[in-house]
Amino acid sequence: MRIAFIGLGNMGAPMARNLLKAGYQLNLFDLNQGVLAELSAMGGQISTSPKDAAATADAVITMLPAAAHVRSVYLNEDGVLAGIRAGTPTLDCSTIDPQTARQVSEAAKAKGVDLGDAPVSGGTGGAAAGTLTFMVGASDALFTAFKPVLAHMGRNIVHCGGVGTGQIAKICNNLLLGISMIGVSEAMALGDALGIDTQVLAGIINSSTGRCWSSDTYNPWPGVIDTAPAARGYTGGFGAELMLKDLGLATEAARQAHQPVIMGAVAQQLYQAMSLRGEGGKDFSAIVEGYRRRME
Ligand code: NAD
Repeated sequence: MRIAFIGLGNMGAPMARNLLKAGYQLNLFDLNQGVLAELSAMGGQISTSPKDAAATADAVITMLPAAAHVRSVYLNEDGVLAGIRAGTPTLDCSTIDPQTARQVSEAAKAKGVDLGDAPVSGGTGGAAAGTLTFMVGASDALFTAFKPVLAHMGRNIVHCGGVGTGQIAKICNNLLLGISMIGVSEAMALGDALGIDTQVLAGIINSSTGRCWSSDTYNPWPGVIDTAPAARGYTGGFGAELMLKDLGLATEAARQAHQPVIMGAVAQQLYQAMSLRGEGGKDFSAIVEGYRRRME
């Protein structure tokens, strides 16, 4: 099977590597020549445009930064839809707004192409290890066609519903994650300020009703979880800038749906302030630094 893989960045490159290792033939396209050279050395074939990559492919996967890139890669003159054969299963794994996912899918449908959305969670570590979660918004037939392919890149492959629902699942989850990290930061900092040992406090929270992933796996307070970014200066996790992007998608989707996301909007502003301070490259759990009286 020959797959066109377009967008070979921090996530796309390790995902493509896993497909090459699994024996798929890949048509590769990215604006970055360096990554193309590296992946062609592993057996991938370099294409000259998204159109060229799609023309000879049995399936197409894209992994791009944001909605504008998805639009251009699919809809431009040299885009995927200009070259693709009708009936070719196609999946966009980028995290974008559900509205754009549905619009581009409609444009694909007009060419006889079934295009679904499958944003991921699990980060660059999960992409390298092949343990990503895929949240798939697609027809039953498209989900069935892609499931064996996705199984080489992920461990948890969930069919969320029709087109756009993968993006909805992703942005709702990250809305909650962004908020819960701030809640845990606030509780840990208050406990510290009032004089409880933060290890004891974390232990209580993690066996009580306040427990959540932000407290028991990724606690922002240094010294609580050895494997969390807080233990290594908030490096090498999920960047605050990416959290800010996802909260922007959630609040914009909410605006279009006339749905209030009050806590999400506050969270977005706190990460925005972090970005303004030049800390957008740190892991998002560094949001706790805004609450701490003394830096250790
Ligand atoms: P990235 O910026 O590292 O990679 C994007 C790649 O797309 C780059 O190689 C870039 O050159 C390429 N690109 C941009 N415009 C292009 C075009 N017109 N044609 C071809 N290639 C083009 O981004 P990433 O970290 O790989 O993230 C990709 C998507 O996955 C984003 O939507 C992101 O929100 C989402 N995501 C990222 C993570 C993470 O931890 N990095 C986790 C989950 C989801």
